[in-house]
Amino acid sequence: MEKNILLKNALLNAIQHDGKANVQAVLGKIISEGPEVRDNIKKIIPEIKNIVNDVNSLTLEEQQKKLKRLGITLEKRVEGKKELPDLPNAGIGNVVTAFPPEPSKYPHMGHAKAALINYLYAKKYKGKFIVRFEDTNPELTKKEYYDAIINGLKWLGIEWNKLDYVSNHVSKYYEATIKLIKENKAYVCVCKQDEIKKNRRLMIGCKCRQNSIDKNLEIWEKLLTILKEGEASVRLKISMGHKNALMRDPTIMRVLEHYHPRVGKKYRVWPMYDFATALMDVWEGVTHRIRSKEFEMRKELQQFIQKCLGLKSPYITEMARFNLKGVPSSGRQIREMIKNKELTGWDDPRLTTLMALKRRGFVPEAIKEFLISTGVSKTESTLTWDMLESFNRSVIDPKCNRYFAVFNPIEIKIKNAPLLKKVRVHLHPDFPKRGFRQIPVNVNKILISRSDFEKYKGKEVRLIGLFNIKLDKKAEFISKKVIMKMPKIQWVSEKNMKINVLMPNGSKKNGIGEPEINKLKIDKRIQFVRFGFCRLDKKKLGIFFYFTHK
Ligand SMILES: [Zn+2]
Repeated sequence: MEKNILLKNALLNAIQHDGKANVQAVLGKIISEGPEVRDNIKKIIPEIKNIVNDVNSLTLEEQQKKLKRLGITLEKRVEGKKELPDLPNAGIGNVVTAFPPEPSKYPHMGHAKAALINYLYAKKYKGKFIVRFEDTNPELTKKEYYDAIINGLKWLGIEWNKLDYVSNHVSKYYEATIKLIKENKAYVCVCKQDEIKKNRRLMIGCKCRQNSIDKNLEIWEKLLTILKEGEASVRLKISMGHKNALMRDPTIMRVLEHYHPRVGKKYRVWPMYDFATALMDVWEGVTHRIRSKEFEMRKELQQFIQKCLGLKSPYITEMARFNLKGVPSSGRQIREMIKNKELTGWDDPRLTTLMALKRRGFVPEAIKEFLISTGVSKTESTLTWDMLESFNRSVIDPKCNRYFAVFNPIEIKIKNAPLLKKVRVHLHPDFPKRGFRQIPVNVNKILISRSDFEKYKGKEVRLIGLFNIKLDKKAEFISKKVIMKMPKIQWVSEKNMKINVLMPNGSKKNGIGEPEINKLKIDKRIQFVRFGFCRLDKKKLGIFFYFTHK
C-alpha cells in the first residue's frame, strides 16, 4: 500500500472531522481505492493506525498544509468521486438507460447496483433513466414487490425520468407475434413442455415447425381464446441445432391464466422474458443496457429478436454479478426459506435486501459508495459484509452518539468509592461540542458485562467516565486518574432499562442500558460502547435494537 494514499485519506478524514481522523473511517475509504486492498486488510490496519495517530497529533492548519503539499484540495476530492468509465457512442443528451426489475421479490444489493449504475450513467450524460417493471409473469408478480422496489429506489435517492410497465404494452407483443408468424419467423407449438425440453437437448424439431402460416395463425387465435396453460406456445423459428441452447427455437409467448395485480384478467397470453425485454428496450429508445453478467448468454437471443423485427439493438454490456459471500439472493430460494421459517421475512437481518439493510441501520450513502467501489468491470471479486460495513461505519461513526449497555450483566459493589450520584459523559468523545449525557451512579450497585468480569477479575480496570477499580464482586476504588494502558469497560447502575438486540445471525441479546436510552426516538442510530452500532427499531415492553455492525 502506498504511504501517500494512506496519508491522503487520513488527512482528508481528519480535516472533515474537526482535525481528528478515525481509523475505521480511513479504512473504509482505503478499501474503495481498489480490490488489492481488500485482500490485505489485516496488514494495512496497523499502518493506518500509525498514520492516523501522526495526523491527529497535528493541528487542523498543519493537516491542511500537508494535504496541499500532496497536491490535493478538499473541494476537488468531494466532487471527484469515483468516475464511471465512458460508454461507447455516448454523448451529452443522447443516452437512455433502464433498470428493468421483475416485481417478483424484494430488491437486494444486486438490484441496487444495476439501478444505481444505470441511473448514474444517465446522469453523467444528462440523458434519461427508465425504471421498467417486467411484470409479465402474473403468477409471481405482486403489488407488494412493485411497492418495495419503488421504495427501495427512493430510499437510495435514485430518480427516474419514466416509470414503465411491460403489462401496459401486451397488445403490442400480440402485433409483433402476428408479424413474426406471417413472416414465417415464428410458429405455434402444441407440444408438452417436457417434450420441448427433450427435443431441445436432442437438437430435433417437432412437427409443429412444419405448419403453414395459415395453420399457425389459426392456432394463435385459439391460443388467445380457448387453449389452456401448457397446451400451446409461440416459438421463434431459429435452429434446433444452435450451439447456444437458448437459441433452439425459444418460446416467446405462452398462456398464463393468473390474475395480474395491474391488469387483472385482461390478458391470458404473456410474452416470455427475452421477448419482453428485447422489444421494450427498442420501444423505450434505450441506447445502453448495463446489466449483470448472468444475462450474458441471453444477449444473442435478444439481439436476434430485435433483428427479426428490423429493429436496432442498444449497446449491451455486462458487469460482474453482485453477490455478498454466504448470502442467499435468489428470489425463489428466499421465498422458500421464509415459507420454511428459516428466515423471518424479506427484512431478515441475514439478507442483503434493501429493507433488511435499512432496518439494520445501514445508510444509503454508504451502500451507494460501496456499490460504486465494486466497479462496472466483468471481473468477479469476492465481496464480504466487512467491506460494506466499513463503508457504513465511516459514514455513521461521526454521527452516532455513544451509550453504555451491558450484556449478561453481573452486579458489583465498590468499596471506598467517592460518593457520586451521577456523572456526565460525552455523547461522542471526538466531538465534545455535541454535549453530554448523564448516567446515574450507585457505587453499591454497578452492573458490568459478565464477559468483562471474567476477563478482568482481580485486575485494575477503568469504569469509563467514572474511576479506576480493582475488579471483583466486592471491588475496590483505586483512583480517578485516567491511565492510558488500563482496560476501560462500560457499566450501568440501574436495572430498569432493558434492551433487546437482534443480531445479524438472527439471534437475540438481552442487556441493560443506561437510562438516557429511553429518550431516543425510533429509527435512531447509536453506538453502544465496546459493543457496536445499533438502530432503534421499536419501543414496546422494552427497547428493541437491530445490530448494525461493530
Ligand atoms: Zn411442437
